Amino acid sequence: MRQSLAVKVGSVVIGGGAPVSIQSMTNTDTADLTATLGQIHRLVDAGCEIVRLAVPDEKAVSTFAALKKNVNVPLVADIHFDYRLAIMAVDAGADEIRINPGNIGGEGKLSQIISRAQEKNVPIRIGVNAGSIPKEIRVKYGGVTAEALVETVMRTLDFFERKNFEKIILSLKASDVPITVKAYEKVASSVPYPLHLGITEAGRGLKGIVKSTLGIGSLLLKGIGDTLRVSLTGDPVEEIPVAKEILQAAGLRRFTPEIIACPTCARCEIDLPAIMDMVEETIKQWDLTVFPLKIAVMGCPVNGPGEAREADVGISGGKGFAIIFKRGKVIKKVPYPALAETLRKIIMEMVPRAGKDTMQERDGGI
Ligand code: SF4
Repeated sequence: MRQSLAVKVGSVVIGGGAPVSIQSMTNTDTADLTATLGQIHRLVDAGCEIVRLAVPDEKAVSTFAALKKNVNVPLVADIHFDYRLAIMAVDAGADEIRINPGNIGGEGKLSQIISRAQEKNVPIRIGVNAGSIPKEIRVKYGGVTAEALVETVMRTLDFFERKNFEKIILSLKASDVPITVKAYEKVASSVPYPLHLGITEAGRGLKGIVKSTLGIGSLLLKGIGDTLRVSLTGDPVEEIPVAKEILQAAGLRRFTPEIIACPTCARCEIDLPAIMDMVEETIKQWDLTVFPLKIAVMGCPVNGPGEAREADVGISGGKGFAIIFKRGKVIKKVPYPALAETLRKIIMEMVPRAGKDTMQERDGGI
């Protein structure tokens, strides 16, 4: 794991070994208090830990200040083009300012943002995007490359460091996954600042999810990244479960029990998808954030017993029946019609009661 500096964004620590946090960005009109507040609440309910809002004008700054009074989640003001809005957003209580150095209007203006942020102890994310690399850097590197992204961010960083400003978070996003990954790797090995990961303009649905997972996931597996945003076209609330699954699959955080399930093939003689529906429905009923249950749902004896034995609870299907394993031991052979209900009861018995007891204490068998 890369050791980065810790930067506090409101109540959330980014970097310094803190859990990789989940961010998103509202897409309501920021000036519309009711709509934006509603979307922030929905994001938070889904598990978003830091919310960013576009602040394109003074009206949005006023609403930003009002929103700050109504929510506990850290709010980040996303500023482009007008440095005065960044200063106003700091004064409005922003927990972080995100600026794009390519469009903020030169060092004089940047300097004023830095001074005000320093005064109010507000961190700044230097968020470079492929679309805003300065022309001379694009020409130097023959277009948008990882090197061009890195040089853009390093130039700005040098300016911040000369101003003795250290509450910095960096991002270098492109829609091209290999370029983005390479850029983050280069920066991660050169500077100690925490990194905000993301694949920008990843798109919608499956394509966006795959691009984000590949890019963010490959960096996380190398120990790179301190906070992330999955950028998907559409309702930002849909980004949160994707972010959670990425973090869980990378082994960094756990949000739901882990379910291992075979894809099924001609050897499967039970209705495995129906069993999966039941398992998913059952675990949805609890907040299992801190409950690391591993459930294996396997169709036949080829890989079934091996996986089921390794899980907390698992089934290995047979011809019209399934063997149920609990913590490595066979506990039952159940005919298919009774399988779903029996498995549901076993899972429910293994869930600790509101944290008052542990899995081991309830491990009485069925
Ligand atoms: Fe097929 Fe059995 Fe493998 Fe499932 S576990 S995919 S049913 S061979």
